[in-house]
Parts: sequence; structure tokens; C-alpha cells
Amino acid sequence: MSIQVLEPHVAAKIAAGEVVERPSSVVKELVENSLDAGASQITVEMQGGGIELIRVTDNGCGIPADQVETAFQRHATSKLSDVEDLESIHTLGFRGEALPSIVSVARVSLVTRPHTSPVGHEVHLVAGRVTKSRACGCPPGTSVVVEGLFESLPARRQFLKSASAERGRVSELVSRYALAFPDRAFRLVVDGRNTLSTTGNGNLTEALASVYGTETARSMLEVSWEDAGKEYTVAGLISAPSFNRSNRSYITFLVNRRWVQSPMLSYALGESYHSFLPEKRHPVAVLNITIPPAQVDVNVHPAKREVRFRQEDRVFSTLQRAVRATLIATSPVPEIRLPEGGYAEHSGYAPRNPNVPAAFTSGEPQSSASFLDLLSSPQPASTPVEAMSSLRVLGQVQSTYLVAEGPDGVYLIDQHAAHERVLFEKVTDQVSKAGSQVQSLLEPVAVELSPAQEESVHSNAQLLERYGFLLEPFGEKTYLLRGIPSIYKGDGPGRALVEVLDLMAFEEIRKTPEEALAASIACHSAVRAGMVLSRQEMEELVEQLRSCQTPHTCPHGRPTMIHLSSHHLERQFGRT
Ligand code: ADP
Ligand code: MG
Repeated sequence: MSIQVLEPHVAAKIAAGEVVERPSSVVKELVENSLDAGASQITVEMQGGGIELIRVTDNGCGIPADQVETAFQRHATSKLSDVEDLESIHTLGFRGEALPSIVSVARVSLVTRPHTSPVGHEVHLVAGRVTKSRACGCPPGTSVVVEGLFESLPARRQFLKSASAERGRVSELVSRYALAFPDRAFRLVVDGRNTLSTTGNGNLTEALASVYGTETARSMLEVSWEDAGKEYTVAGLISAPSFNRSNRSYITFLVNRRWVQSPMLSYALGESYHSFLPEKRHPVAVLNITIPPAQVDVNVHPAKREVRFRQEDRVFSTLQRAVRATLIATSPVPEIRLPEGGYAEHSGYAPRNPNVPAAFTSGEPQSSASFLDLLSSPQPASTPVEAMSSLRVLGQVQSTYLVAEGPDGVYLIDQHAAHERVLFEKVTDQVSKAGSQVQSLLEPVAVELSPAQEESVHSNAQLLERYGFLLEPFGEKTYLLRGIPSIYKGDGPGRALVEVLDLMAFEEIRKTPEEALAASIACHSAVRAGMVLSRQEMEELVEQLRSCQTPHTCPHGRPTMIHLSSHHLERQFGRT
């Protein structure tokens, strides 16, 4: 076959494949156009998962009648005119590709009226050609209807998932935009049913409540951060560590308000929650990162889902600092929240995991408080760090928990978790300053290691030494241990090494080797549950915990303490 330039309509169909993958991509392009048009109200309707029909209606600036048909031509855009403009993009669209791509794979009609114009204009297109174009009466703004997606491309249609799966994607997409733009009112209507609406009053917490529910919204912490040069900022909401999810689908990243998917940002967020969250748990987050437009390339992905940063490291560290600072500043003491209705109802209250109080995991007893109550009352779940300053130890329960009184109620402290935190910070501090203090053994101890333990010794030889384990090879599989960290209080130096190696292998899954080692030493040196402590020991422990950087969680991410607020006590005893 000879080489020839493709007919425009064939080329258009090929190009459309990149932009229009499925119903949610159509919705994305149309919603972005509405946002770019300055709309304050955007309604998305769909039928049959968006394959049968999608309608996006806005009250934006509209399109003048004489430009309506031009809008459907390839590379027709009102958003930039020059190559330089690409350096400073403030709109979501800029390629002039969406409308021509959509009309090449579906039947489209568009009705539009600029606010200044007395009449509107409507245009219908089938197979990319205009079949009707005329003046009409309509409200100001624009409404686009897309029907029969991929009808003329059966092969592409086969790639679509079931209507319900496509519906799910559209709903997710609209939710993300509702979170990205809390200052615009979004409405999603699925097969005639209103499934999501936001007020557009600009309050992100309220928008988040509409999308994920009030229970989630009340667990969020506000992030507001700018870097030293004030060029990069991070703003939004992240969940307190006590509220977490088993997957990352509740995380939304925006770069200059553009929703992006970025493994780098996900990683930075995960790292920031490190030691705050139990293993394999993820936060809920909506974070907008603002960056000077010239420092981010938005033109690297056909659907503009990904962006490229000129200074990736800077973005990474800015996000991490912002999140970390918020978590440390508001590191919540998980609160015991009992079901409403008095003691009788909750007498069977039992934590699901002895280490994690029930109130610390998601899926908590629902509070009957309305969202407005939540907004106006102080957030009881976020006791600031300062609240620890005046804890008075009252005693010990079950030789495992310390009971203390604070400025706002009663605190139960897990003695092991608390001590672990104290020792973890002590070890890391010692090592960073001068290396761990070593207790030399008068008699070296021979320790036999398994192949996996031996492997761990090899790969971490220097680290082990820095942390106070002095050992040398002594024949096959055997090592001579000459010193151990002075902090270690476990049973026998040989066991210390073996236990630390084993724990390290386990901990290393989500930590750096240093942290894994420090956590293992801390875990094995900390006072155990079941040990009776003297008053002085208890007071010292609480005092040391108080001076920790991250006092409210142990190095494994479990809580060190839970809080029963005065307010809650009053409620439970019917005093208020
Ligand atoms: P782009 O958004 O990249 O400019 P599109 O093909 O999506 O390209 O749209 C082409 C042009 O049509 C836009 O630049 C804009 O001027 C106009 N337009 C599209 N949708 C709307 C809308 N909802 N309201 C106002 N103008 C619109
Ligand atoms: Mg567009």
C-alpha cells in the first residue's frame, strides 16, 4: 500500500482514541470546559453508564453564536494563542482537542448563550459533521449532550466495561472535581437519580462531607503550608491517623487545582504518615499543591492526568513537610467514643484488637451530631500536643495501662507502647549524635544464626555496629557477640541479637533499616504489659513520653494513649 495522508475524519478518529477512552473521559473534558468557562454551577447527567447519554450543563460564560462551529474544529481554543502561553497555563484545557475528538466518536448537540446575548445558539453534529445549526432560546451558559458513544466504533465499544462499572468511574471523577473545586456547586444525576450534590460555598470540609460522608469529614485535619520562598504551597485536608482506609482510593492530589495521578506524590504522602499509621493502611486526603505554572509541565499526558515537575525533589519535600507538620502539631489522642444512650448499651464494649482500641479504627459508632454541630463544636478527636503537658498519674490498671488525669478528662496510657516510643526516640537520638551507648560483655557470647539472620547481619553490618551490636564471625553460622546496646533490657544478649534481627526483617517492609533497627531495639527493651510499676516509674514514663516528638503513637503506628474527654463523661453520666 502506498503512503498517503489520512482523510481528516479518519485522523480525527485516531486522535480521539487518545482523549476519549470511555464515558468518564468525555465527562472529564466537558466538566473542565465548564470550569474554564467560570461556571459556578455544573450538572452532570448520565444514562446507561454514560454510554447512552451524557449531559453536562453549566452557567458559565457561554460561546458567541459565530464561534460555536469553530469550537468543534481541531486545535480550536480560546485559551492560548502562543507557544509562550504554554508556560503559564491557568486553564484546565488548552489543546483545543476535546470537542472535535468527542464529535468524531459520538452524536453531539450543544446549546449555548453568553450572558450578554439575548438569544442562544444550538448545533448538532453526527459523525463529525454539522447537521443543524440555528439560533434558539435558552438560559445563559452551555449544555452539551453526548449520545451513542463509540456507536460507530464497535471495536472500541467492546473495550468498555459494564454500564455499572463505567457509572462508577464517572461518579468517581465528578467526586474528585467536587473536592478540587469546593467553590463550585456540582450535581450528579445518574439515570434520573440525584447521587451527589455540593453547595459550592467554598468550604472543603463540607464538600468532602458530601462526597465521603460526615464521619470522614469530621476526622480531617487542615493542612496549610507554604515553603520558605512562598512559591510552593500545600493546602487541603488529611485524615487524622486514627481514621484510615485499606486502599489509596480516598487520596486526591491537585496541582494548581488540576487533579493528577502521581506515584511520586503518593509516595511522599505515605512517607509522611510513616509511624502514624498501622501497616497497610492509608489516609484520606485532598491536597492542592500550588506551583508557579512555569515550573510544571501539564502537557505530557493525552488526558492530562499526569504532570511533570521541573523540581520534583522540591515538590516531594514540600508535600512531606506540610503533611508531617500537620500530623505532629495535631497528633490526636484517640478518644474513647461510646455509643449514645448510656452505659448499658456499651457494657459489651471490647476492642477488636487488644493493641488497637475500637475507637482507633475506622467504622466507628456513628455519632448522631449533625454536620453543622461538628463544624461549630471543637473537634474532640484532635487533642493538641500541648494537652499532654499536665498529666497527673492516678494509677495502673491490669498492670498494663496507666491511668492519668489531664486538663480535659482521663487518659489511658499503654505502658509498653509508651515506653517503646520513648526508647525509640532515645535510640535514634543517641545514634544520630554519637552512636549508641554499648554495654560490653565480659564474656563474649556465641550466637548461632539462621541463613536469613546471617544475611541480615551481612547486609546491615555497619548499621548494627552503630546501634551497639558488636559482633564478629566465629566459624560456620556462628557469631561472637561482644557488646549490645546499653538500652537493651531483654532476656540475654544472644536473644537480643536474634530477636532484633527477626523483628528487623519484619519491620523493614515499611521502614528504613535504621528505623527498623531502632524500633526493634525499643520494642525489646520496653517495659512489658503485665509488669507492676511503682508510682515513680509511672510518673517518669509519662514525663518522658511528654517530651517525645511524636508522643501519641508507638513506632509501629499504634496509639500510646486513649482519651476519655470530660465532655464525654458528662454526657454519659447525664450531666449535660
Ligand atoms: P480547549 O478546552 O482545550 O480549549 P475544547 O475542544 O475543549 O478545547 O473547547 C474548545 C473551545 O470551546 C474552548 O476553548 C472554549 O472557548 C469553548 N468551550 C467549550 N466548552 C465550553 C463551555 N462549556 N463554556 C464556554 N465555552 C466553551
Ligand atoms: Mg477543553
